[in-house]
Amino acid sequence: MSTTKIGWIGLGKMGIPMSDNLLKAGYPVTVYNRSKDKEEAVTAKGARTASSPASLIEHSDVVVVMVSDDRAIHDIFLGEAGLLSAKTTGKIIINMSTVSSAISREMSILCSNQNNHYLDAPVSGSVKQAESAQLVIMVGGEENIYEKVKEVLERLGKLTLLVGGVGAGNAAKLAVNSMIGFYTQGLAEAVVFAQKNNIKVEDFLTIINNGALANIYTKTKGEAILNNNFEPAFYLKHIYKDLGLARDQGLNTPLGEAAYESFRQAEKTLGNEDLVAIIKQFASSK
Ligand code: NAP
Repeated sequence: MSTTKIGWIGLGKMGIPMSDNLLKAGYPVTVYNRSKDKEEAVTAKGARTASSPASLIEHSDVVVVMVSDDRAIHDIFLGEAGLLSAKTTGKIIINMSTVSSAISREMSILCSNQNNHYLDAPVSGSVKQAESAQLVIMVGGEENIYEKVKEVLERLGKLTLLVGGVGAGNAAKLAVNSMIGFYTQGLAEAVVFAQKNNIKVEDFLTIINNGALANIYTKTKGEAILNNNFEPAFYLKHIYKDLGLARDQGLNTPLGEAAYESFRQAEKTLGNEDLVAIIKQFASSK
């Protein structure tokens, strides 16, 4: 039973199963979510709630943040009753959201000005991996701070890796997600192309899933395509956000530009569906 007091901010698709894993591991967990109704999923399992990020950090040793984007990070750290408005020192804040390296560096400086510590620790894997604590966690920050919280991160993932200083975790994650964007677009375009040439989608996916390109992603997203099931595991609006962040951080390459543009278009109508819903955009184009 660990005595490290965890504060958890952000109870979305990922935050709920991840914070639940820390509860299961025996950590005392206090949660904060902007929309209060989502807190019930974890309070029912023993989490306490805090009325604001400031109140949460006052009652925690380690604060984990798992929210959508740079804007959300800004609000959580610098908003009214935000994390940085609390008069605390010596806390470790782990930002696991997929955000820019720039906002991590900015928040890290503000944290250290108050003698608190910041790590960026975004994750690879989706809701299933979050539920089964099989995420891959890439960390940016100081090694001695990382060592202090490694045990907590190990309860959330199958691999945690320190990849550099603050912002390096975010850069690694944006590189991974760029590949996810390219891959999803590639799969969708290939399926639509095969179909237009009178190949059954089922047959095409069977071929893919038995060849050199077979992998868990093709299998899962192939099933989603076959079943016309675009329930979001990973929101299309989030991959659009990530491709935009990667582009701002230097991914102005042929594939980078093409994927960004495709998902930018799709986000207008398909943003709240799973990212593989991009196939609908290609299927409807002549
Ligand atoms: P989600 O279900 O959309 O949840 C987003 C969370 O952020 C919610 O708790 C939301 O609060 C909060 N939030 C958004 N804007 C906010 C603001 N301005 N102030 C305070 N809170 C705010 O997202 P998710 O799928 O859990 O993803 C969380 C992060 O993990 C994202 O950065 C995403 O890119 C990344 N990620 C996702 C996956 C995946 O498969 N889903 C995989 C790897 C990484 P409300 O409930 O009040 O809206």
